[in-house]
Order: sequence, then C-alpha cells, then structure tokens
Amino acid sequence: MKTIGHWINGTAAAPSDPSRLGPVFDPARGVQTAEVTLASPADVDTAVRAAVEAARTWGASSLSQRATLLFRLRELLDGSRDELAAAIAAEHGKVHSDALGEVARGIECVEFACGIPHLLKGAHSSEVSRGVDVHTELHPVGVVAGITPFNFPVMVPLWMLSNAIACGNTFVLKPSEKDPSASLLLADLVTRAGFPPGVFNVLQGDAEAVRGLLAHPDVDAISFVGSTPVARSIYETGTAAGKRVQALGGAKNHMVVLPDADLDAAANAAISAGYGSAGERCMAISVVVAVGDIGDRLVEAIAARIPDVVVGPATDESSQMGPLISAEHRDRVRSYVQRATDEGARVVVDGETAGRPDGYFVGCSLVDGVKPGMRVYDDEIFGPVLSVVRVDTYDDAIALINDNQYGNGVALFTRDGGAARRFTRQVDVGMIGINVPIPVPVAWHSFGGWKASIFGDAPIYGPEGIRFYTRPKVVTSRWPETAAVSAVDLVFPAN
Ligand code: NAD
Repeated sequence: MKTIGHWINGTAAAPSDPSRLGPVFDPARGVQTAEVTLASPADVDTAVRAAVEAARTWGASSLSQRATLLFRLRELLDGSRDELAAAIAAEHGKVHSDALGEVARGIECVEFACGIPHLLKGAHSSEVSRGVDVHTELHPVGVVAGITPFNFPVMVPLWMLSNAIACGNTFVLKPSEKDPSASLLLADLVTRAGFPPGVFNVLQGDAEAVRGLLAHPDVDAISFVGSTPVARSIYETGTAAGKRVQALGGAKNHMVVLPDADLDAAANAAISAGYGSAGERCMAISVVVAVGDIGDRLVEAIAARIPDVVVGPATDESSQMGPLISAEHRDRVRSYVQRATDEGARVVVDGETAGRPDGYFVGCSLVDGVKPGMRVYDDEIFGPVLSVVRVDTYDDAIALINDNQYGNGVALFTRDGGAARRFTRQVDVGMIGINVPIPVPVAWHSFGGWKASIFGDAPIYGPEGIRFYTRPKVVTSRWPETAAVSAVDLVFPAN
C-alpha cells in the first residue's frame, strides 16, 4: 500500500518512526487506499530546522525574485488543475467540478501574492519635523506553521502559504491526515517553480505533530483552520507560548429569506449552498430562516428540488454531490436527522444513505420546524442537512443569528435594498451575502468570521494575510547635513 510521507528541505523525507501511520480512505468506495506517515517530535524538529535555515536567505531575497517565483507557481498550478482536483476527489470525495472550484479559489490567492512588491511597499512620511522623515518597513515574521482541515486540502493551504512565503517567511504545512496527498502535489509545484529548499515543507501528521509545532521555540507564527474546539485550544496554547496565532473555527451559517425574495432563486441557493460538497464547507448554509408567510412555499420549493440532486462518486461525471469524509462522520450526520423528530422537528426529507451503502454517502436531508435548543440547530453538523427555522419578523431573524455562538457567514435573500443595508449593519457575522449564498471573499479582501468562528484578531488571506505574516519596523531618520541645529535637549520630542 502507498505511504504518503513528509516533504522537507526540498525533498521527500523519511520519518523517524516509520511505525506511526494513519489510514487514508476513498470515501466513495469506503476502502483504504493509502497510509499516511504521522510525524513524531523528531520529525517536527527536522522540518522546523529546515525552515529556520531557509528563512535566513529567503527572508532577505529580493521582491522581484519572490514575484518571479510566485508567477511561475501560478502557471504551474494553472497547468495542474485537473491533477489537483483528482487528488482532492480521491481522498476527500468531492466531485471533480467542485474540486476544480476549490483549486481556482486557491490559485486566486497566489495571483494576489504575485503583487507582493506592491503589497510590501510600507509607508513614508516626509518632513514630519524639520529634516526628519519616517517610514515603515514590513519584515517577515520567520517560520510559519500552517495547520489545515480536511475539507479544502488545496485551497486552505494556498490561503496561507502564498502570502506567507511571499512576505519572506518559510512555511511548514501540517495538512489534514484524512486527505494528505494533495499537499505533496503542492510541494512538487512549489519546488518546480524554483523556491529554494526549506521555504515550503510538508509535515504529515495528527494532533501529536500539532502539539510539537506549538511547543517548538523556532515556530514564530501559526495559521490554523479547522473546528472551533481545536481552534480555541491552538490559539490559547500558541499565544501562551508567545507565538502569533490566527485560528479560524467552525460555523453555523444562516440564510434569511424575506417574504419579498425571489422564491426560486432562494430555493436554488439553499440547495446549492446546503448540499454542495455534501455540506462539508465552513461557508455552507445549514439553517434557512423563513420570515413571515414564506415558510410553506419555501420548504415545498426546496423539497421539490432535492430528488434532482445527483449523489455519486467523483469518478461519475454526472455526480453533483459526493460522500462524506469517513464512516464515523456519516453516522454522526445521520444521527442528527434520526433524532430530529424526537426533538420536536419535522423531517421533510430523510436522504438516508442515498441508496449507496458502500461508501460514506448521505443523501440530502431537510428538517422543518427547527428551533434553538435542538441539537440539529445548536451543533455544526457538517453534512447535507438543511434546517428550516420559521420566524415571524425580520427582527426575530436578526436576534436568532446574533444569539448563535458562531458568526462565520450569513446570507439574506430579498429585493429590498433598505432591508439589505440594515441587515449588513445589524448582523454579528464576518462574511455577508446579499442574494449570494456562499459569500467567500475574493482573494484581495480577507476571510474571517466573528465570535466562535475565529480566535484572535487576524482574518486570513488578502490584506489581513499580509499584515499577519509581517512585522513592521518604523524608522525615524534625520541626516546631519539637514539638521538645522544640533543641541542637547531633554524634552520629549514633539513636532
Ligand atoms: P479539525 O479541527 O478536526 O482538524 C483540523 C486540523 O487540526 C487537522 O490538521 C488535524 O490534524 C488537526 N487536529 C485535529 N484535532 C486536533 C487536536 N486535538 N489537537 C491538535 N490538532 C488537531 O477539523 P476538520 O474536521 O479537519 O475540518 C472541519 C472543520 O473545519 C469544520 O468545523 C469547519 O467548519 C472548519 N473549517 C473552518 C474554516 C474557516 O475558514 N473558518 C474553513 C474550513 C473548515
């Protein structure tokens, strides 16, 4: 059986303990296809030392060199879209067209980073006082560790590594152990683009590798994306160790439908955003909030569309929705639908296993009459289960969303511009879609939720990514020939 290993210092690296292995599955067939190496503390140290060594020269590389290599990486990624999508589909299970979308959004982040000479321009103030100038320079932080979730094995690493290495840092990626192969394709492309050895390293592993990275004194910054409990713990442990940490967590995203909304557009959006990637997206819609009298018509319109969703493996081009990541996750997702009736909700559609008991498939499910306090509402299910909460008024919808512990994404469907503007201002959520169900910001804005969807104050990629991966130096200078007078002066300097 194939073993998926580390990539350290520009080459495949043997693990220090070859017996630490984890299984990798094809979720569409429910069979193990590979083993992944699980790093021990010695491997963590090897990867971090390679990154420390590379940072000495990479941190001092010219901006034009970095931009040239990033442009090359962009071209190589562009030529590898299908290969990357196939690797994602084989271990994650999402269908090829969806995997291509993920790759495209990742490439967008590299395109943003290609503008690094402009992004690192800093700021200059001339003549702040007589003969005195001030400028700000942006320097790399050092060694960055990126810890990523299973659901976007190409895009989320690219969210991080593109800006991190563009800013002159070196990077150690600890990908999800559930779908690790794509990380090695990325390593191959980064190497072929000409980045020096040690600038980008892949450390395969599980929680033990993460603990090693958190404890390592030479890791300067941590970018984490994953579930809320792990995000919280990584933020607390990493910052206590003096590291810079950004930690993005889980979600429960609401889609509010006002009575004036285009019903077909709202129903189509609920299907697309609720069941795309089998609901395994942190920006998936999991709660539809029907306001006023639109509830019955909306539930009917969503239910009528469910039979048209083609559930199947990525190898079948007609498939629109693939399996879940694992057997345990399939059973957990199913349990929410099975329990919903006992909780007082109404199961309108139970997708069961979509008639495919062999893989980790779950069909599209729709649950009406859901309320806070029910597990189906309170928990992040991360599967193709749409809940419908009915409320009387717009204000009830706002209160529902703002009471929820998460604040990642939200959508509003309406034709009323005034309501949309009010919604944008009143809702306590980081990313808002107005008649757009999955408002993942483009790469030149930044991505980040509010409340328990993020820990720390650093959203990811875009301008915030540049801020996170750099440390400013502010230089105040005066040259002797321009100094009018040189004298002893003990007063605090004022302009
Ligand atoms: P996860 O938290 O289980 O794992 C994420 C990473 O952390 C993996 O690399 C994993 O190996 C590691 N890890 C797991 N348990 C750990 C522990 N106890 N200690 C240290 N490290 C640990 O998340 P997942 O199941 O891979 O991904 C799904 C979750 O990620 C969902 O909650 C989803 O909402 C969230 N997510 C959030 C965003 C976002 O941008 N906010 C994006 C994608 C996914």
